[in-house]
Amino acid sequence: MSVAETLRIHHFEPFSYSNGPGKRAVLWLQGCTLNCPGCFNPQTHSPTGGASVQLSGLLSRIFRISPSIEGITISGGEPLQQLRPLLRFLAEIRQKTHLSVILFTGFTPEEINTFPASNKLSELIDVLIAGRYDKSHPSENLWIGSSNKTIHFFSSRYSMADLLHVPTGEIIIEQSGELLFSGIDPLIFR
Ligand code: SF4
Repeated sequence: MSVAETLRIHHFEPFSYSNGPGKRAVLWLQGCTLNCPGCFNPQTHSPTGGASVQLSGLLSRIFRISPSIEGITISGGEPLQQLRPLLRFLAEIRQKTHLSVILFTGFTPEEINTFPASNKLSELIDVLIAGRYDKSHPSENLWIGSSNKTIHFFSSRYSMADLLHVPTGEIIIEQSGELLFSGIDPLIFR
């Protein structure tokens, strides 16, 4: 499989505890046209923001850290608006690592079903968290976003109980010394 394609990314975080069960890498993709009112990540909307990265380089980085993480979470931005390279990326992760995959999308399952090749998604991810973010319906499970989002398990790797124990926010000190705040705005810890 060729991995000479690119993904436009907003940020890659190698180690996080508030974006899914256990210690995980997080990939925020750049670009989203869905405009959910109250979106807490508007800086990810521009299709020309962030950086365009080669899949091969991104995958090498993930393969290197894979022994020390449980999985990877893909968020955004809207990941499914880069569906073709995303499917290639996820196929490599599935074939060459033990990593679990959680995917956030603003699209509903009904919308996803209309996308070409979307049927491959269920083979390549463990959990799909789907639907527009709705600020007026906060989720008790805050890291999920809003209570209208639907959660779909495509493997036996995780259960709802696993998702309920994820911390709802964290502050990560980057190698550069900058602080990264990860979680729903306003950041709530519990
Ligand atoms: S799908 Fe996500 S990034 Fe896009 S507008 Fe909705 S909450 Fe924001």
